Amino acid sequence: HAKGEGRNNIQLFDSRLNEAAAMRVRTETRLRDALEHGHFLLHYQPQFTTIGEHIVGVEALLRWQPPDEEMVPPNQFIPLAEDTGLIVPIGAWVIDEALAQLARWRSAGIDGLRMSINLSAHQLRLRELPRLIGRSIEQHGLQPADLELEVTESVAMRDPESTIGILTQLRDMGIALAIDDFGTGYSSLSYLKLLPISRLKLDRSFVHDIESNPNDAAISAATISLAHTLGLEVVAEGVEGPAQLGMLTQLGCDLLQGYHFSRPLAAPALADFVRDWRASH
Ligand code: C2E
Ligand code: MG
Ligand code: MG
Ligand code: MG
Repeated sequence: HAKGEGRNNIQLFDSRLNEAAAMRVRTETRLRDALEHGHFLLHYQPQFTTIGEHIVGVEALLRWQPPDEEMVPPNQFIPLAEDTGLIVPIGAWVIDEALAQLARWRSAGIDGLRMSINLSAHQLRLRELPRLIGRSIEQHGLQPADLELEVTESVAMRDPESTIGILTQLRDMGIALAIDDFGTGYSSLSYLKLLPISRLKLDRSFVHDIESNPNDAAISAATISLAHTLGLEVVAEGVEGPAQLGMLTQLGCDLLQGYHFSRPLAAPALADFVRDWRASH
C-alpha cells in the first residue's frame, strides 16, 4: 500500500516537473517568436538633473506586447530570457532599437539626451559586445558618449577579472557605465574603485522612505558622499514625490528618475513630454 502511494507521489511530482518544463519551453518559443515578429518594444523614462531639473537622458525599458494581449513587464520574462540565453539576441535588438530611436529624436530636433541601456550578465560575457555596440553607434550616426550602459552590482561582481576587462574596453570607447540598483548587492567598496564606471544608481528601496526612515536617509547620504569622493555621479531611482525630491536635493544627489517626473513612456509620448517640459521650464 505504502509502496503504491510512493509511486503515485513520484508520478505526481514527475508530472508537475514535466508541466513546469513544458511551460518553460512554451515561453521560450513565444519569446523567440516575439523577437522574430517584432513584438518587443521599448519604453523610455527621462532622467533629470537635481539642480534645474533639466532632462539629460532616458533609460530604455523593455516591454513585450503579444498581439491581442496585455503588455508584459520585464520581470515576467527577462529571467527566462536570461536562463535560456535568449537575452543575448533580445539584448542586441534593444541596443540597436534604443540607439535608432535616439537618432530619430535627434533628427526631429530633440537633442541633448543620453540613452541608458540595461545589460545582462550574458551580454557581458560576449567577446563581440564592444564591436556590436560600436557598429550600432556608428550606423546611427551617434557618438559613444551618447550611450550609457547599466549593469547591476551582482553582474559587475561576478567573474571580476573578465568583467573589468570588458567594461574597461567599453569605457575606453567612450561609453559611460553605471551600476544599477546600487546598495542591494554585495559589492565590496574596494572593488568599486576598480570598476571603470561614471555613475551609481541608488536603488529605489532606499529612496522610497528616505524622508521618514533615518536608516534609508543615512545609507543614501553615505552612498552619495562615497560616490562623490570617487568622482562618480549618483542617479536616484524611484523618485515618486516631492518629499523624496527635497531630501535627495539636500543630500546633493546629481540625477533623478521616477514617477514624480514621468513613468516610462512609449517613444512618441516621450518626445511630447520632452518638448512640453523644455517649453515650460
Ligand atoms: P531597472 O533597470 O532598475 O529599471 C527601473 C525600474 O523601475 C523600471 O521597471 C521602472 O519602470 C521602475 N520605476 C521607475 N520609476 C519608478 C518609481 O518612481 N517607482 C517605482 N515603484 N518604480 C519605478 P521595469 O520597466 O518594470 O523594469 C524592471 C527591470 O527589468 C529593470 O530594472 C531592469 O533590471 C530590467 N530590464 C528592463 N529592460 C531591460 C533590458 O532591455 N535589458 C535587460 N537586461 N534588463 C532590462
Ligand atoms: Mg536600469
Ligand atoms: Mg535600477
Ligand atoms: Mg531597481
